[in-house]
Amino acid sequence: MLQEPKSRFLKVKCNDCENEQVIFGSISSKVVCQVCGRSLAESTGGKAIIKTQILEVLE
Ligand SMILES: [Zn+2]
Repeated sequence: MLQEPKSRFLKVKCNDCENEQVIFGSISSKVVCQVCGRSLAESTGGKAIIKTQILEVLE
């Protein structure tokens, strides 16, 4: 799953351990799951690439 959200908060769910975590849509570095360490999002050219399931977009 590849998505390119703008600057907002996203609630995501880890595909591996089902941990739910809120991350910022325009991250500047890698975001990993706080429980299992799986990569949840990466930054590419200033855009966040979300690599897991997005449950909700928080405006
Ligand atoms: Zn996890």
